This record gives sequence, structure tokens and C-alpha cells, in this order.
Amino acid sequence: MIRSDYRRRGHHLLALLAIAVILLLPTATVTVEDTDSSSIISRFQEYLRINTAHPGPNYNEAADFIASQAKSLSLDFQILEFVKGKPLVLLKWAGKNPALPSVLLNSHTDVVPAEPHKWDHPPFQAHIDPSSGHIYARGSQDMKCVGLQYLEAIRKLQASGFRPLRTVYLSFVPDEEIGGNDGVGKFANSEIFKNMNVAIILDEGLASPADNYRVFYAERCPWWLVIKATGAPGHGAKLYDNTAMENLLKSIESVRRFRAVQFDMVKAGLKAEGEVISVNMVFLKAGTPSPTGFVMNLQPSEAQAGFDIRVPPTADVASLERRIGEEWAPATRNMTFEFKQRASTYDKFGKPILTAFDGSNPWWALLEDAIKNASGKLGKPEIFPASTDARYFRELGLPAIGFSPMANTPILLHDHNEFLSKNEYLRGIDIYESIIKAYASYAEPVKDEASRAEL
Ligand SMILES: [Zn+2]
Repeated sequence: MIRSDYRRRGHHLLALLAIAVILLLPTATVTVEDTDSSSIISRFQEYLRINTAHPGPNYNEAADFIASQAKSLSLDFQILEFVKGKPLVLLKWAGKNPALPSVLLNSHTDVVPAEPHKWDHPPFQAHIDPSSGHIYARGSQDMKCVGLQYLEAIRKLQASGFRPLRTVYLSFVPDEEIGGNDGVGKFANSEIFKNMNVAIILDEGLASPADNYRVFYAERCPWWLVIKATGAPGHGAKLYDNTAMENLLKSIESVRRFRAVQFDMVKAGLKAEGEVISVNMVFLKAGTPSPTGFVMNLQPSEAQAGFDIRVPPTADVASLERRIGEEWAPATRNMTFEFKQRASTYDKFGKPILTAFDGSNPWWALLEDAIKNASGKLGKPEIFPASTDARYFRELGLPAIGFSPMANTPILLHDHNEFLSKNEYLRGIDIYESIIKAYASYAEPVKDEASRAEL
């Protein structure tokens, strides 16, 4: 059940008055004080101070804050609850030509938990170090920065008198950090989303310690594999073939060799982290419990291991499947396997789930030029090593680009003392101002979903 309430349409008289004011003063809703850097930073701090960490994120306070920002920018907004208690705030900056496919700027409002005693400053205080200008807070990089940078960029564009040709939507979504099923998962597959006629989505990227920004065209797909070995139990003193433990160990050795080969390619600089198949053992389960630990003179009849495998959409999936069936969990060694999760490396049209960054995707060139025009440098397109909400959009065959404008910044997402410097934050707003302007002004028609499906 979707609760969709247009809160702006509360008081008719007030609304009429507001319209009258807007008609009289087309650009006066954004004042000089609104776009000066100290108020920009205060608004960022205000958002960072809302504790939206799992478990129990304060989603309503975050939604109210975003709604207040929407009001200050005269943007239409609705609060959608695809799942009760998990609000998604959708903002709309209407374009002059609503027939053109729209632009969607996505960000998530939730953050991962923090261990306050391991931080130099409390993770929800948004303390600014006076000498370095670092703003310390959970979410300062991942990704409250991006959500508010979009809004600040729009504030600046409004102040300059710019009006979009295409409609620009902003979605502030819950639950990205716990898989996104109740957030973007529901949103991307809704009627509301369909009616938005989205042509391009911007979503999160990663900080870059160098002076170029990082940009992502795909992400690795999680395959969570559990392999299980069975064998006859026996005395702990007996040497015999086909014990569950022996069979599982053979598999683990094989997995380790594969892991080393993949990792070596990264270490040698032949492939980027997102371009190889990573596999890490995350659990081992075996043994017969006893009151003091485990029975020591018994070889158990079952043993299991779990692996977090990340597969780039460019990988040879058939060969990985063969490897799992023939080497990691072969029936010849009494082994079976199951996937706890297996994300497809293909979109719904059967194409590899990635966004083109060649001439076939005009949004890519627009992004590159816009960043260059704002004096930013862009690195080589990469595959995101972990998962983001962008996959839900790419699954629909839509182009989605992962980008968070943070250069000269250590990668601290999910880490202690996550911070972003004031200057990088402000620079990021200029970058988005340039990108949003370019995207919202782009007049060329874009192939719609139907024609893409026919290709
Ligand atoms: Zn994130």
C-alpha cells in the first residue's frame, strides 16, 4: 500500500499567496545568504546530525528535513511509503518540456552504524576541525554529501535564473545499506517510477585519494555460495577416504588458488579491483559439539563453508559456474552447493548489466564535459567493487552512473572517523551545478525503453 501525500497542498490560501509571490519575484525565492558557504555547510551538518544508522534509522526526521529543503526550493515533493516506516522522498523540478525523458538524481538516507568510542569526534555531531576543515560524521562520504550537493546545486542554478528543459527528479531512498529491497527495489519497479519516464540516473560512487574523481559504469554482482560436504563419520584415529572434512578441505584449497590468481592480477596492476572475481570465505561450520567445545575423537559426517563471491558483469559466468560444479563442490566428492544469493550479471533484456561509456550513451559524454567545464578531472571508468542501488536501475536497462565528487579524500565509507573536507564538499556542489545544468538542458531525444528492447 502506497501512501502518497502531497504535503505542499495543505493550505489553499497559503499556496495562492506563495504562487503570487513566485509570480512577482521569479528568482527571489533563493537569497544570497542561502547560497553562501556557511549556510551551505550548516545545512549539511543538520542533515548529518540526523541519526539514520541501522538498526532503527530515524527515517522520518530525515524525510522531514528533505521535505523542508524541497519547500525552500519550491520543488514539488511527495513522501512515498512502499513499506511502512520506510519513507522515500521524491522531489521534482519540473522541466519546460515535460515530454522529454527525465533525469533522476538518487541518494540514500540511511547510513551504516558507527562505534562512537572509536571515533575522535561523535559520529552524529558533524564536528568541523577548525584547522583542516574536515567534517566528521557517519554519512559524510556515504552518502548524505551527495544528496545535499544535488539540492545545493539546484539552489545555485535557481539563483542564477536557470530553468531546466527536462524534468529533474531527486529520490532520497531508505535501506540501501541493507540491500535496498524495500527502498529502490520497490521504487524502480513501481508505476510511479514508470510514469517518471527516466532517461538517466546518477547514484553514488567512491572517494578518490588522488586529484581525479572516480566514476562507475557497473558493479560486481554478489553470489553468496554455501558448499556442503558429507561423508561417513568415523573414529578420530582412523585414516580413510571421503570424509566430509577432507572433501571440504580439498575444495577450500581449490578456492584459495583461484582467489590468489585473481588477487595477483590486481596486485600486478593488470586489472582493477572491480574487474576481477573476488572470493572470500566467510564461514566454516563443522564438528560435533560437546559440553566443553567439540568432540575430539570423532570425524563429523557434515562440513560446510560459505563464500562471498563478487562477479563483474564482464566475467565469463559459464566458466565460473563450471568451476563451482566441477572443482569447488563436485558430486564426485559427495558435495553439494547452494546460493544464498545470486545476483544476475544480465539486465532484463539479457544484456550484461552495465552502462555504456562509449558514443552510444550521450549522458556519458555530457558528464565528462560538464566535469571538465567545472575544472574537475575524471578518472578511467570503473566497476564498483561492491553493490549500490544503481543495480536496480541498470536491471531495467536504464543507464546509471556512479559518481560522488570527492577528490583528494581518503576512502572512509563504513570506517571510523569518516569525514569530508568543507572545500571538497563545496567544490562538489559546483561540479553538480555543471552536470545538472548540462543534463537538464540536453535537448536530443533519447531512445525509449521499447526501442532499446528491440535492439
Ligand atoms: Zn552508500
